[in-house]
Amino acid sequence: MQKEKLSNQTILVTAGPTYENIDPVRFIGNYSSGKMGFAIASSLASYGVNVILVAGPTALSINHPLVKCINVVSADEMFQQCIQFFPKCNGAILSAAVADYKPKQINETKIKSNAETLTIELVRNPDIAKELGILKTEKQFLVGFALETDNELKNAQEKLVKKNFDFIVLNSLKEEGSGFKHNTNKITIIDKYNNIEKFELKSKIDVAEDIVKKITDFIHY
Ligand code: C5P
Repeated sequence: MQKEKLSNQTILVTAGPTYENIDPVRFIGNYSSGKMGFAIASSLASYGVNVILVAGPTALSINHPLVKCINVVSADEMFQQCIQFFPKCNGAILSAAVADYKPKQINETKIKSNAETLTIELVRNPDIAKELGILKTEKQFLVGFALETDNELKNAQEKLVKKNFDFIVLNSLKEEGSGFKHNTNKITIIDKYNNIEKFELKSKIDVAEDIVKKITDFIHY
């Protein structure tokens, strides 16, 4: 790996789920553990990268002098932090599982269970990846993730284009040991030149190394 390319770079990493509050005690969330994003942050830091890790609620912590961890809860909070830090970064790796929708209103008090049915109106959250893709300069790179249940390659390729990624990391829920919660992952990397590279099932630590290695091809000075 061309490690020297990484040293002194500043890279933004998003990780984990977001929680979208319904009322003071309930939220809409997802099963993302944050393990992949934290492994990427740790790998980058080991090569001398200054990492800004914007993390949704996870059970994880990281203690490395080069990693600044900013804890957020909702997609809106994650968006605010990313917009603020991205212009100062050489690139971003967006591994967070951001909720696409949030409740239109957050109930101020705990919702009572009197009614037989309950409807919660949802509105779109900001698409952090898409917004950073618009802000991205020629000197920056942007990497995204896709977790697909059907038409995996096609959907991932569409996301790559729509969000202006340099490459996208596809992990499939169909693969045993891949995706949320697991310590292992099986990925395919698709880049903007349409190179497709399939990797074996590996620990998320080793997957992070593969992703970081690929990043060195997209570092601009
Ligand atoms: O949710 P989706 O499959 O579109 O996510 C693809 C990529 O976009 C991921 O890298 C994810 O972190 C990012 N994303 C985001 N903000 C959203 C939705 C997704 O940054 N609101």
